[in-house]
Amino acid sequence: METGHEIREAIARRDRSAEEVTRAALDAIGRVEPSLRAYITLLPERALAKAREVDAKIAKGEPVGKLAGVPTAVKDLFCLKDALTTCGSKILANFKPPFSSTVVERLDSADAVIVGKTNMDEFAMGSSCENSAFFPTRNPYDLEGVPGGSSGGSASTVGARSVPLAVGTDTGGSIREPASFCNIVGVKPTYGRVSRYGMIAFASSLDQAGPMTADVRDAADLLGAIAGFDPMDSTSVDVPVPDYGVGLRDDLKGVRIGIVRDFEDSIAVDPKMAKLYKDAYEDLRKLGATFVDVTLPHAKYGLATYYLIAPAECSSNLARYDGTRYGVRVDGDADVYAMFDKTRTAGFGDEVKRRIVLGTYALCSGYYDAYYVRAQKVRTLMKHDFDTAFAACDVIACPAVSCPPFELGAKSDPVAMYLMDYFTIPMSLAGIPAMSVPGGFVDGLPVGLQICAPAFEEARMLAVAHAYEQATRHAAKLQPVVS
Ligand code: GLN
Repeated sequence: METGHEIREAIARRDRSAEEVTRAALDAIGRVEPSLRAYITLLPERALAKAREVDAKIAKGEPVGKLAGVPTAVKDLFCLKDALTTCGSKILANFKPPFSSTVVERLDSADAVIVGKTNMDEFAMGSSCENSAFFPTRNPYDLEGVPGGSSGGSASTVGARSVPLAVGTDTGGSIREPASFCNIVGVKPTYGRVSRYGMIAFASSLDQAGPMTADVRDAADLLGAIAGFDPMDSTSVDVPVPDYGVGLRDDLKGVRIGIVRDFEDSIAVDPKMAKLYKDAYEDLRKLGATFVDVTLPHAKYGLATYYLIAPAECSSNLARYDGTRYGVRVDGDADVYAMFDKTRTAGFGDEVKRRIVLGTYALCSGYYDAYYVRAQKVRTLMKHDFDTAFAACDVIACPAVSCPPFELGAKSDPVAMYLMDYFTIPMSLAGIPAMSVPGGFVDGLPVGLQICAPAFEEARMLAVAHAYEQATRHAAKLQPVVS
């Protein structure tokens, strides 16, 4: 399958119909799904109906949306009216929301063709997609390997080139890490850039939806379609959405790139990874960029800070799943509390329970100041670190991950899994935009380069990523093992 912009142009030229494209995407998914298992729910009827609607508009000469006819997958935590929306959890295994999320509505009005709901770590907690309550998803470049998480299904289906566009969410790295593992582009926008309305919450002060795509241009187009103020989300920000495709560049003359000295020691642990990133910075330099050393002195506290704030917010967000209003219920014989107890015991997986316990503990009166309030203070310091860094540079380039995709089952210790978020969490805590763009290969497997920018400067970040992508074209150098 080609990129989204190639498909859109072919449909606009009437070289292909949206229905043909949709059938081809559904076939491609069908061929690889037995090995990848990227989807929890496929929506072939809805997709074909939408494609026919697009074709009818084109036949009548009516205007079509910016993503007209482009096959698109959405992570299974975006509410989609009357379609199963499980969040990767048994507790929502039967949940069909009565309304659609703003992201889904914006995709619909951009005339994207939504093909299905993708697998994910339960409630977006994880870095490998192995915490899905249903089944793990595989990496299209190594079937023994994980696709990353938590947006693993979205990354896997785009990485397999079954569809060019998917939407994921990123709380502490869940778009960027799987994008890195699956040889695709993944963008976490500024907190507040994309509406969270109808997106099942994990940690509300961090969650943000964003594009996972075949290339940077597709990411720019998809972001343009889903971004923007939404009165239904009080944290969405009323800042105009530029046309992200317009400013994409092919060189980096005059761009000052910050290199995070504090990260150099961390990545040096693995010489192959260190070399990959050195080479990536060299490629940026060849494009005309100049380099500035920056420091993020509080980044080393990122993991500890995130793993207090995120569980604290999740323990509160997940209190609503008690069998009373929606989702799965397991009746208790004694009283309503027994019902809550049985429902939550049966409905949540181990990682979700671990986070609820951690978060509830951190929020207990007496511990609240020592943990949650303190973590918020560190978060503020981290934000200051970035403000200072961006006074000296336009964007920051740094590792997205510490390793190439690992094998299923390789990280059974929760802390080993948490360490996967080392390079992605600081930007999440600061609320700034950050993305992963294919950066090369280690041991024959994909690794992403991370680029981040000040709040609401997604256009600047995408422009740099585009120049790098066009010069290096790493994504095209490796073919998926299934297609
Ligand atoms: N891996 C991190 C976690 O488990 C981040 C998840 C995410 O961004 N949703 O919390």
